[in-house]
Amino acid sequence: MEEYVLSGINKGLNRIIFLEHMEEGVSSQKKTWLTDEEFDNYFTEGKRLQEKYSKDIDIGLGVECGYNPEQVQTIIKRLKNRKWDEIGISCHFLKIGASDQYLNMFSRSPENLKLAATFDIDVVFDDYLSLLTEAVQRLPGTMLCHMDGALRFLPGITPLHENHQNKIDILLRAVKEENMCMEINTSGIAIRNEPFPHSTIRKMARAINIPMVLSSDAHHPKDVGNYFESTDIFTDSRHPQ
Ligand SMILES: [Zn+2]
Repeated sequence: MEEYVLSGINKGLNRIIFLEHMEEGVSSQKKTWLTDEEFDNYFTEGKRLQEKYSKDIDIGLGVECGYNPEQVQTIIKRLKNRKWDEIGISCHFLKIGASDQYLNMFSRSPENLKLAATFDIDVVFDDYLSLLTEAVQRLPGTMLCHMDGALRFLPGITPLHENHQNKIDILLRAVKEENMCMEINTSGIAIRNEPFPHSTIRKMARAINIPMVLSSDAHHPKDVGNYFESTDIFTDSRHPQ
């Protein structure tokens, strides 16, 4: 965490927010989230860094909470147990039928891509948008994360297909209704030359005055603040820094 903070200071940021992942009731080959004990350590270390670097950078301790419709009450309880500076809402995992298997819609691992290829991708994306809307309405979130980033490593996904437009519109209205902001996630630029979400969706969000916050989704200290200098993105952000 300290390396991320130092990287943020080096890049001239005056605020940085950590968004560690939380999931509940999901089985996956690879654990990409923190347990409650790990969140204890996260807060201990985060608070130490807040004090140590208080003159250099403002450090926020947040969470990116994955949605699981079968675990809503537990998730809400876990979220309410701590004081977060930001609660990002996302949905990474889709339960497959009545099985215990989950598809990680954000993974590029060969097993996941193979599994994803057995489904009609437009149907999966449609389900993803419905789940995300439900998550926005049911969880106490403050920010919607990487909205159209699901299935990004699959060929042929068309989030802007007209069949999805209506659902995207409903999702954005829910974000507005819940007074949430939307993340402009620059990690998309390295993958598809566009942040998440796509400019068409950013325009839809701007039309109904949804505030936007820049995020680099850094999974390595060197990636903190990646592409923040892009003027194209600044025009969309409420807090250009
Ligand atoms: Zn995520």
